[in-house]
This record gives sequence, structure tokens and C-alpha cells, in this order.
Amino acid sequence: MSSEEKSLNFIEEIIESDLASGKHELITTRFPPEPNGYLHIGHAKSIVLNFGLAKKYGGSTNLRFDDTNPVTEDTEYVESIKNDVKWLGFEWANELYASDYFDQLYEMALKLIDLGLAYVDDSTSDEIALQKGTPTVPGKRNEFANRTPAENRVLFEEMKAGKFPDGAKVVRAKIDMESPNMLLRDPIIYRIKHAHHHRTGDKWCVYPMYDFAHGQSDSIEKITHSICTLEFVPHRPLYNWCIEKLATFPSQQYEFARLNMTYTVMSKRKLLQLVNEQMVNGWDDPRMSTISGMRRRGYPAAAIREFCDRIGVAKRDNLIDVGLLEFCVREELNKTALRRMVVFDPLKVVITNYDKAEEELTSENNPEDPNGGVRTVPFSKEIWIEKDDFMEIPSKKYFRLAPGQMVRLKSAYIIKCEEVVKDANGNITEVHCTYIPESRSGNDTSGIHVKGTLHWVSASHAIHAEVRLYDRLFKVEDVANAEGDFKDHINPDSLTVLSNVYAEPALANDASDKAFQFLRKGYFVQDADSTSNKMVFNRTVTLKDTWAKEVKKG
Ligand code: ATP
Ligand code: MG
Repeated sequence: MSSEEKSLNFIEEIIESDLASGKHELITTRFPPEPNGYLHIGHAKSIVLNFGLAKKYGGSTNLRFDDTNPVTEDTEYVESIKNDVKWLGFEWANELYASDYFDQLYEMALKLIDLGLAYVDDSTSDEIALQKGTPTVPGKRNEFANRTPAENRVLFEEMKAGKFPDGAKVVRAKIDMESPNMLLRDPIIYRIKHAHHHRTGDKWCVYPMYDFAHGQSDSIEKITHSICTLEFVPHRPLYNWCIEKLATFPSQQYEFARLNMTYTVMSKRKLLQLVNEQMVNGWDDPRMSTISGMRRRGYPAAAIREFCDRIGVAKRDNLIDVGLLEFCVREELNKTALRRMVVFDPLKVVITNYDKAEEELTSENNPEDPNGGVRTVPFSKEIWIEKDDFMEIPSKKYFRLAPGQMVRLKSAYIIKCEEVVKDANGNITEVHCTYIPESRSGNDTSGIHVKGTLHWVSASHAIHAEVRLYDRLFKVEDVANAEGDFKDHINPDSLTVLSNVYAEPALANDASDKAFQFLRKGYFVQDADSTSNKMVFNRTVTLKDTWAKEVKKG
């Protein structure tokens, strides 16, 4: 389905109506990550949505780091986030930091104080929690709420000057202690934290709370459509209250369902645990749901964008099948990946009647791509095939190699198995075959038809490689809602390393970040762990396409 044929999602409808009514001439969106971890596929959804809407309607998108919590943030994360957004194919209009607004936010809090709409509270956090009541029991204001604006101003200035320790005082917005919405029961907007900030250093010891900082950052940047996930629905009244009382730019918040995916965790807190407890090899482990992990695994950015478009914008939480993401990855790679032959579990085949030294055959790089061209593949007397492409006593309908049976070697010749060679213990060491010289691919005059085609690699030309095969990191579909700790559900077999692998020599020349289809084995990409002695490849995804079958059936 092309994008023109798709019906509008609810956010597009709102935007089109805002543009039609003249409420906005141009739209501005933002992507506001907290730099406290690496981005994951859920963030990709938010990125594709925010940047995609601005692109579609000719507006712009800011990349804003929501760095108001000094304790968990790090410049390493800032750099990785910028890298990931760029890699996904988007350009931000401005690179901004909520911490750049600390002066303005401080002035805004002072303004609320002067308006009698905020006060300094000396209560402990336990007392505040107690006075707040419960969703069914209204809260009660304490005596600190009676402080005058003048008193509050002095106290807030002293807080800022570093006169009090952490937790001694907070600033609260004076809204409604009896509101059914707990977030409106005089929410804290500023707290004391004597902590070093990754950008502002030690300038500040008071920091704004998320709700206050986030909404006002939107207003400062004149964000027209502030898109966030459903858990922020109850925060919207506070977002609007601040804008109304401060008379700042009327940004509006819209919420959609966050992306959840099967066999995966997506919260940065959980991903951090996996990294810290070494259950994976870092944030960019190819099994991780991080964008950097998916990139290392070989997922094309275009496939991730396509996935995010296909799942659409939901208003209710749901769990998306990871098979859909894999389907998008296969669709993209099928168009772009270079075909190569690689033998994972080698068995030697000697072609006894082949008496040339060697010859160069050619094979298509990608039959799906008319401009894909060809590569040369060396052929010689000794080749490797897969162990499981040979059976000494074949079962019925086994069309691969077996004594007396013929198969085609891809892009080469038809061979016939003449003899099985074994060692003293009865293990097969080699298979001896003859070839049919007239059966050369592209010029086959043999008239022989065989059912099986095998991939193979010339033994004397083969390059040594390692392949890493990945399975799902978790054994259960809905990890977040599974019983017990999420780490109890880790799949112990999520990584298989094969280190005695033989690849055709063309791979040595053009690996780097290209995508490959290893015939009959799946899609692969070279890993950064490769050395000059050994190339390492990650399997991006298998060839099997269960999702597509289900889609067709449905
Ligand atoms: P996490 O819980 O994984 O740490 P977060 O929401 O705290 O995620 P932020 O850095 O605050 O992470 O998120 C930046 C933006 O990405 C926010 O607008 C947030 O709503 C959005 N986002 C985060 N996770 C998802 C998700 N799973 N699906 C869609 N959007 C998401
Ligand atoms: Mg967050």
C-alpha cells in the first residue's frame, strides 16, 4: 500500500485540521529523549512518527535532550542518540537541551511564586506523600502553603544559592489538593540536588521536575504538536495548567500507544540491567532491541522505518509480533543483499574427473536486482559442501547428495556421488564425485535434470570465517507481563557461534557494511569483531518467512 492510499492516522487528522483552520501555519514537532541509555525500537517508532509528520507537512523537528535529571545522564548517551537518529535517516532542525533552559525555567518558577501559584514546602517526601491522600481520599494542604510570595521568593533564591541540603525543601505548584487527578495535588516542580550535571556542571543545585520542564521546553521551542505515549494522558492537565498560568506558547500534547514487541524488553532500565549484568555483550549486542544492536545485526534503516509505518499509530496499548519487523527486514534485504556462498559445517568433496587446475565461473549478485551484476566464483577439484547436504543412506525424497545420486552445484556443474571415504572409525572424511562437463550453468547441454541445488566453496580458495547465529533473547512472548523477574525468561540459546566456516573469496573483497544473503542460510552482515585472520558475520535474519505466509492466509 502506498502512503497516499493509507487513511490518515488520528494525529495526521488533527494536524490537517489545524493547518486548514489556520491555527498553525507550520507544524513543529520534537523528539525528546532522556540521555540515560541507548535508543531502542520503541524510540524508533517515536522518531519515525515525529520526524515523519514534520516531513509530510513541511514542518520541522527538534532533537531535544531532556536532560533535567543530572544523576543518570551522560554524554556517551547523547552521542549514541544523535548517531542513531541520523542513521535512521532523519535530520533535526535544532539540537537542543532542556538544560539550556534552566535559567528560563527558574524564572518561570519564580513567576508562579510571585503569582501566588507556587510555594516552598519544607516537608519530607514521606510527609508530602501522606498529605497527598489517595485516589479516593482527598489530600490536605499543610501550613507551608500559606507562605507569602515574598517569603517563597527568598526561600527559592536561597535554595538556588545552595543554602539547603538535598531534600530539605521543594517548590510545589499550588493547584488542587482535592483533585481526582493525583498529579494535580500540588505537584513538585523543583527539588534540591547537589549533583554535577553533564552540561551545566556545578552551576545548579536546584533542578526542575520532568512535568514542569518538559511542557515549558515545548513552549519555549514553540512546539505545535507534542507527541508522547499514553502514560502521559494524566499529565496533560498539568501540562496545560503551566501553559495557561505562565501564558506561554500553547503547545498541545497528544498521546499514542507505546510500541511493545514480542520476545523483547524495551525499557532502558531493563536494557541497562542486561548490559551491566553481562547477559549481553553491551548496548549494541545484536540480540538487543536497541537501534545500535539492530544496526550491528544488519537491520537496514529502511526496514525499521517501514516497520514503524506499518504498525501505525494506535490509541490503545498492544503487543506487536517481532515477526513483522523480521518480515520488513527480509523484504528490504531481498532487494539489496549480495548473494554469496558460505559453508557452515564443511564436508570435503573431491571431483575425481576434474583435471583442470581451476576455472572461474560467474554467478549473479542478486537475481532480484537487474543492475546487480555478477561476480566470479572459483571452481576447482576439491570443494566444500554442507555435511547435511549429504546422506549415506538417503531417506525418501532426499534430493541432495547421496551415493549414486546427482545434484547441481549452484552456478557450476552437475556432480554425481561415486564413493564415500571413511576413516578407521567409520567416520566419513570425503565424498568422491564425478562431474558432467556439459552441464555447466548457463551453457548446459547435458539434458540432465536434477532436483537438488547445493551451495559450495572451492577448498583452495575458501576464506576462513566465523558466523554468529541469533535467536530471540527471551523465551516468552510477552516478557513485560510474564511471571517473575524478566531475566528469568532469557533464552540460554540465543547465540550460536560457528567458527569453522568457509566462505567464497568474493566476501573478503567487499564485506564491510554490505548486506549479504548466504545462499540457503539467511541474511548476514560483517561484524566489527572481524580481524585480518578471521572474518566474523552476524546472521541478520533467516530466510524463512513465516509472517508472510500468515499474512497471505489471513
Ligand atoms: P524507557 O521507558 O524505555 O526508558 P522513556 O519513555 O523513558 O523510555 P525517553 O528517552 O523519555 O524514554 O523517550 C523519548 C521519547 O520516545 C518519548 O517521547 C517517549 O514517549 C518515546 N518512547 C519511548 N519508548 C517508546 C515506545 N516503546 N514506543 C513509542 N515511543 C516511545
Ligand atoms: Mg523517560
